[in-house]
Amino acid sequence: MDLIIRNGTIVTASDIMQADVGIEAGKVKQIGYGLGPAAREIDARGQYLFPGGVDVHTHVDFALLGHRSVDDFYSGTVAAACGGVTTIVDYALPEPGQSIQETIETWQKKAQGKAVIDYSFHPAILEPSARIIAEMADAVADGYTSFKLFMIGLARFDELAPQYMKVMAQAGRLGALTNIHAEDQCLISYLTEQLNAAGKFGVRYFADSRPRLAEGLAVQRAITMARYAEAPIYLVHLSCEEALRPLAEARACGQIVYGETRPIYLHLSRERFEEPDGERYVGWPPLREASQMQAMWDGLRTDTLQTVATDHCGWTLAQKKAGKTVDELLPGMSNLETMLPMLYSEGVRKSRLSLNRFVEIVSTNPAKLFGLYPQKGTIAVGSDADIVLFDPHKIVTIRHADMHSRADYELYEGFQVTGWPAMTLSRGEIIVDNGKVLGQAGRGRLLRRQRFTVL
Ligand SMILES: [Zn+2]
Repeated sequence: MDLIIRNGTIVTASDIMQADVGIEAGKVKQIGYGLGPAAREIDARGQYLFPGGVDVHTHVDFALLGHRSVDDFYSGTVAAACGGVTTIVDYALPEPGQSIQETIETWQKKAQGKAVIDYSFHPAILEPSARIIAEMADAVADGYTSFKLFMIGLARFDELAPQYMKVMAQAGRLGALTNIHAEDQCLISYLTEQLNAAGKFGVRYFADSRPRLAEGLAVQRAITMARYAEAPIYLVHLSCEEALRPLAEARACGQIVYGETRPIYLHLSRERFEEPDGERYVGWPPLREASQMQAMWDGLRTDTLQTVATDHCGWTLAQKKAGKTVDELLPGMSNLETMLPMLYSEGVRKSRLSLNRFVEIVSTNPAKLFGLYPQKGTIAVGSDADIVLFDPHKIVTIRHADMHSRADYELYEGFQVTGWPAMTLSRGEIIVDNGKVLGQAGRGRLLRRQRFTVL
């Protein structure tokens, strides 16, 4: 065998066991006791072995509102690897008139030669024309088995809603999952206009322009549309109980609908917008009241929510502060490197999540929902050896200077966490060892994904 990891505690979505892991040709070859010999051995005593994180919501090389994000597929995936994430699924957004295939090619050019970990794309649909709907079958056959819809202005959702329902229906027929950004643009537009007319510019008013009810309303609408389109849907970055309530109800009725939340809604609340440089926390949807953080933890524990994903998008503080009115503030932030340690420290250590549930929501569930399981998302014989050696006792104070994204500020500056990745392996190769990046640019592979299967 090429490599044996000895004495670690393997954690999967279902089991916790003390065993050695033998790796050959990039895959897990054996799990057991007294394995060997191997060309190289690692002692993981006192450490957890988690399957690498699967972050199914990233924008690592992205343009929005006239700005270009600062990470590319090298810096973005290095940040991911340092934080224990070994797979990303990035959103590929078309230019006007681009076909789905051209969009994927554009994104593949961004990733090729740069990515340090494996990756795939969700094609976004911004023009739900008959031509684009006809192209979806080829995309699914090529291994792009999920699509993204935005219920907001950039996709002209309110105007084109019946066409978007056809997209959902077609995805359902093809065995693909439709990912939906659910916020009601009518309310957002109206409230934004009111704020602007009253001279209420700036980040302290931002959360008022996109209230919880705007999210709840859109979630309810998306679920109802999906029901009639007979299509499974996956609601991205949910932030509040108004969104979780209709989701829980639909799931209880047996509808195939899933929910994702995002680290910021678990760790931060809207008071942050009052801070100097409060723009650094702007996302769509906004941070909510502190009470909502508990609702998100509860949603994860009770399986109303199935996944956590970062929505990573690295900007400089100057870019974040460039907008004047609430609708000009750039959404998104760098947080790929901190997702696992923050969730472990705040979730597992504070008894909000079990160890197995932690692995399930950051690795197993996203891999299953997006057609990557069991190649990714678990530690099992035959799976890719994407493994994080995680030191559960290491105390780290999060500092921008130690991070690998090209963003020039750190969201969790000064936060102290207990638990940090000691080593990250991708397909059996050590790509990060104690903070030292060993993985070469371009070693990451494009993943063709299987069709959606129910969770
Ligand atoms: Zn996003």
